[in-house]
Amino acid sequence: MTTWKVTQLGSGEDGEVPGRVRIRTETPAPTIASHRTEGARINDSRPVVFDINDMSVYYGSSRALMNTSMRIRQHLVTAVIGPSGCGKSTFIRSLNRMNDSIPSFRITGQILYHGHDVYGPGVNRVEVRRRIGMVFQKPNPFPKSIYDNVAWAPRNLGLKSGLDERVERALRQAALWDEVKNRLRTSAMGLSGGQQQRLCIARALAVEPDVLLLDEPASALDPISTAAIEDLMHSLKSRYTIVIVTHNMQQAARVADQTAFFSLDRVDQVGTLIEFDDTEQIFRSPRDGRTRDYVTGQFG
Ligand code: ADP
Repeated sequence: MTTWKVTQLGSGEDGEVPGRVRIRTETPAPTIASHRTEGARINDSRPVVFDINDMSVYYGSSRALMNTSMRIRQHLVTAVIGPSGCGKSTFIRSLNRMNDSIPSFRITGQILYHGHDVYGPGVNRVEVRRRIGMVFQKPNPFPKSIYDNVAWAPRNLGLKSGLDERVERALRQAALWDEVKNRLRTSAMGLSGGQQQRLCIARALAVEPDVLLLDEPASALDPISTAAIEDLMHSLKSRYTIVIVTHNMQQAARVADQTAFFSLDRVDQVGTLIEFDDTEQIFRSPRDGRTRDYVTGQFG
């Protein structure tokens, strides 16, 4: 049996970055030292960005996600964890209507974004995706220069004045500027995988979104690039609300303020939200046995 232990790093003795947490596979049950400065449940006082009510998602006649209700709050990192196939990707892609391109996709219930129904009549999908940016598992830069990748969305939206400053700002926010400032006109395809993923984050930030959705953004990256992406999330959350899907529990523990655990319903085998709480609560004393089994490695 494997169990997860979460320990605070950054005490100085091992030279690690302060505030990071690490999980080791050993007994006993997890303890977690949060990087947050706030106490438990203080997050509930933050403004609500997404108010999700009884959301179910179908692909054709097959239900992928059922009866999900939760609130995602401003300037927090919210992690979505759970076993493969439980609807994590479906969930996050529903937040900015990224699933609309799938013909069989259908959603019921309601997603309110700052009080506005994301799927309401007359909603402009381009505007939804401008405000709610997304970065995918595999870095997907365009075969263009680094500059043109970041400038692409602003140009498309007609945001042409001050473009150089906008590109620089986005690259700085994505912690990539210093590495690329002397090669902005060279191809993005020449960057490393980790740099390409930070470029994709810069590309999303260039239109000044409100929310950043990250669908397993580090799963294709090496540990050093993964750490860079995680550090970036810590720095970005003062400006953005971040939702991250990860199959990696250590990563959720390191980066997230709140964590949603999804799993397959025992009877219907449909993805469902089991528990949503402060990350500390989810890892230290989950309320549901299914969450406990998952975070202590007893699942599957
Ligand atoms: P996860 O991200 O947790 O692995 P997904 O959201 O990718 O889960 O998938 C949830 C369920 O929805 C799975 O049963 C999957 O096969 C199904 N599904 C996902 N995308 C599609 C699609 N485009 N068409 C049909 N079924 C899909």
